[in-house]
Amino acid sequence: MNLLLDVNIVLDLCVPRVEWQKKASQAIQQSEEKSDSLWLYTGSVQTLVYTLYNEIRRDRPGVTSKVAMRLALKELKEFSKGKQWIAALASEGDVFGADDPEDEQLIRSLDRFPIGDMKLLTRDQKLLDSYPDKTISPGQYCNSEHAGSQLNFIDLKAQQNTIRPQLEKNIHTVFHHGRYILGPEVKELETRLADYAGAKHCIGVSSGTDALLMPLMAWGIGPGDAVFTTPFTFIATAEVIQLLGATPIFVDIDPETFNIDPVKLKPAIQAIEENDSAIHPFPKTRHSPLIPKAVIPVDLFGLPADYDPIMQIAQKHGLKVLSDSAQGFGSEYKGKRSGSLAHATTTSFFPAKPLGGYGDGGAIFTDDDNLADIVQSIRVHGKGKDKYDNIRIGLNARLHTMQAAILLAKLEKFPWELEAKQKKAEKYTELLSTQSCLSPPHVPKELRSAWAQYSILAQSTEQRQKIQDSLKEKGIPSMVYYTTPLHIQTAFAHLGYQPEDMPVAMDVAKRIFSLPMHAYLREEQIAFIAKRIQQ
Ligand SMILES: *Cc1c(COP(=O)(O)O)cnc(C)c1O
Repeated sequence: MNLLLDVNIVLDLCVPRVEWQKKASQAIQQSEEKSDSLWLYTGSVQTLVYTLYNEIRRDRPGVTSKVAMRLALKELKEFSKGKQWIAALASEGDVFGADDPEDEQLIRSLDRFPIGDMKLLTRDQKLLDSYPDKTISPGQYCNSEHAGSQLNFIDLKAQQNTIRPQLEKNIHTVFHHGRYILGPEVKELETRLADYAGAKHCIGVSSGTDALLMPLMAWGIGPGDAVFTTPFTFIATAEVIQLLGATPIFVDIDPETFNIDPVKLKPAIQAIEENDSAIHPFPKTRHSPLIPKAVIPVDLFGLPADYDPIMQIAQKHGLKVLSDSAQGFGSEYKGKRSGSLAHATTTSFFPAKPLGGYGDGGAIFTDDDNLADIVQSIRVHGKGKDKYDNIRIGLNARLHTMQAAILLAKLEKFPWELEAKQKKAEKYTELLSTQSCLSPPHVPKELRSAWAQYSILAQSTEQRQKIQDSLKEKGIPSMVYYTTPLHIQTAFAHLGYQPEDMPVAMDVAKRIFSLPMHAYLREEQIAFIAKRIQQ
């Protein structure tokens, strides 16, 4: 729950007013134990300053007005530390029709939250009586049920709480400049992301899926072409291959990293080149023999694929490599970051991804000037020099200015979040390594994961189910990514793959599961989860 502090509560604590102070500070202390957030209303600032100043002057007649003001400001600065600020919106401006405009503002500001998520902490009896669902007194709060801190799989609220001022400022800047399509924030984000990734170009697009589609379009991939990829990934990776009429050739995964196995990539390419499925399974299509064109490795769960051998093999066979780093932005492979490891790299800004926005979005990274030009054209309906000179068939696939503004605020915190997640992962692994029947994630030397997921292997499907059930009993969420490898999904049934064509992916899918992982996870929460698993 969230608590908005009424002016009287803040003053009870700051002045302090003896008769009220105890109750108020009890409530504040409890909010910490309950992990509830405390909020101050920006519209209350003047009243807080003015009232506190007056009380100081009244209580201490000796102090000058200048000193009293300094004391009041110092007190409020101290008090507001660690509190969230809720902005006064335009809808809280015209409150002059209300009996008490200030109360009206506070009450109206609560309407932005889902019912019950935010309450006004007040001792104003009139407010408590008039708005029983929206208000709570310190006494009521102290007697209320201890909901316990909630364990989230990914905690976007905790993240928001740490970047709110910049986030709101960025959103409102777009709101007022009005350049909603390819506005300045898009360019700024592209420049910053390209710098961060170590790539020459970054092109912001509408989603991680469109980001995958566009380089394939630019490379002219279509019917009769073979594109090699992993069966153990999100549908989008292979969906774009099929959308263009090309044929996905699934290559099984490494049992430790869960990423495409470079050792199996070689025979897979050879099988297509020699049109011989005895070398490696591939689908029969009316286009055969197929022509090998590209490889799409995926940085699954945030761990980079094995790019050195993949690039080497691709080079030898004249194939393009498109890295699907939807989960891997921020990861590192032998000193280089995701975005600089393949001919083109894509990422996704879907909210739950390592760098997530508040909606859909994605980006393409490349050092190839020509490719960058073409995908920029595809992004706007295949435009040429101007909008009405269309030189190819494209898409409407731009990154929204509003999302770019949000991502700019999130990017500030991103390096810190990566570090924090690395520490959480190490803690998990330390605690779970004592459990011989579980395999914590394997991160090869010189690689750094972006920790989109912390995924472990159980011994069997039954053991996984047992662990997941027992975590659920304690309110600990867990997920299975992915229950069904792509080669046996209905959408690809026409390719005629057999389950046993990809034995490692089949085995991993039966045993893998993911634990809560985010930068705001607390060490004691990790210990709690690990202990429950051990039990
Ligand atoms: C999320 C994801 C995508 C698709 O990204 P969207 O932005 O949701 O379109 C593609 N590939 C992988 C591996 C993903 O995890």
